[in-house]
Amino acid sequence: MSIQIKTTDILIVGSGFSGCVIARELAASGHNVIIIDKRNHIGGNAYDSYDQNGLLIHNYGPHIFHTNSERIFKYLSNFTEWRPYEHRVLSVVNGEQYPFPINRDTLNQLYNLNLNEIEAAKYLERVREPREKIRTSEDVVLNSVGIDLYEKFFLNYTKKQWGVDPSQLKAGVAARIPVRTNTDDRYFTDEYQAMPLRGYSKMFESMLSHPNIELKIGVSFSDVKSTYSDHHVVYTGPIDEYFNYCFGKLPYRSLRFEHEHFTNTDKLQSVGTINYPNDYEYTRITEFKHLTGQQHSGSSTVKEYPQSDGDPYYPIPNDANEAIFKRYETLAKNENNVTFVGRLAQYRYYNMDQVVGAALSASEKLIDRFKN
Ligand code: FAD
Ligand code: UDP
Repeated sequence: MSIQIKTTDILIVGSGFSGCVIARELAASGHNVIIIDKRNHIGGNAYDSYDQNGLLIHNYGPHIFHTNSERIFKYLSNFTEWRPYEHRVLSVVNGEQYPFPINRDTLNQLYNLNLNEIEAAKYLERVREPREKIRTSEDVVLNSVGIDLYEKFFLNYTKKQWGVDPSQLKAGVAARIPVRTNTDDRYFTDEYQAMPLRGYSKMFESMLSHPNIELKIGVSFSDVKSTYSDHHVVYTGPIDEYFNYCFGKLPYRSLRFEHEHFTNTDKLQSVGTINYPNDYEYTRITEFKHLTGQQHSGSSTVKEYPQSDGDPYYPIPNDANEAIFKRYETLAKNENNVTFVGRLAQYRYYNMDQVVGAALSASEKLIDRFKN
């Protein structure tokens, strides 16, 4: 009997969405890959686990899956079943809870009005501050809802979340949040909205379960860089770190998560997340049972406290940072044997589905390249 000794073709750094998708795609096309992560678990920031009370929680803050891409939804469906879930959020202003994103009910409740859809549109038309050029997040919000709603719902949340004024952030940040004149109170309106039935980690386990994939957790790129110097590398960590910060550190916003458990509590909140734009040091509280549908006698929540130090969670979209990123990107293009993919390597405020899309495109290119 001959024993086949496998050689590793490709090293993948990071086992988040981007690393797992690429690992699976390359493995499925016959390549042997090794995937490493410096953390002691797979899944990156989408990792979930059972807390000591037996509730499924998202260790790095609430992750709600939503996409308009049938291709991406179908792709992930190879690795998980789904539980339909539409996320809802309330925002607390002066002690009252209002539907958020702002919709007609928000306006009626806040200003004690009884607007219909046409009247709500007229109301917003009257209070908005039209901007000729929409450059910043301040422009986006003032242009659509005017100063009062901006100050009540957006200004302080954004300052707290990012540590800067909305005028210092690209338009895309606040543009994530729609404004509605109907009464749709869902946070997202994507065609596909669902949570992995047994959680994200189980989905990642299934992705990595392939004979051509070797997984090593608790291993940093720096630990193995020299061993794999002849191999192609897929790098999904922070791009500035890869280049030893030669153009300076790219700013990332971090968070501290405060996980709490409440015994003998069915549900604490009426919806998955409650935002606190103007009070407290945290931005929001999420109650996991809403997201997971888990039946349990107690309930677990997470509060998110934004901070500048700590793990890099959010690229900070502004012109200055994008200019630094461009310089790193130029270096990256010249690294012929390295593919940079993901939220940190591409320094983009990507949602999970966008990361899957980016990783699928990168996989296709790599598979093509290795064919020749
Ligand atoms: P990551 O998940 O960051 O994975 C990168 C991995 O690389 C990490 O595990 C890291 O440990 C590892 N790594 C880095 N450097 C090294 C190194 N040198 N050596 C070894 N390993 C390394 N998206 C949504 O669509 N919906 C949501 O509701 C949502 N909520 C979010 C809430 C929060 C608080 C945050 C922070 C993000 C949220 N996202 C959400 C975005 C989502 O987390 C990302 O789009 C996605 O997880 C990015 O995947 P990734 O693989 O690019 O990066
Ligand atoms: N935002 C806000 N008030 C809110 C919720 C969001 O001003 O109640 C702004 C804020 O700048 C935030 C951005 O909109 O960073 C995007 O919000 P989202 O909920 O998409 O952020 P994420 O879930 O990615 O943290």
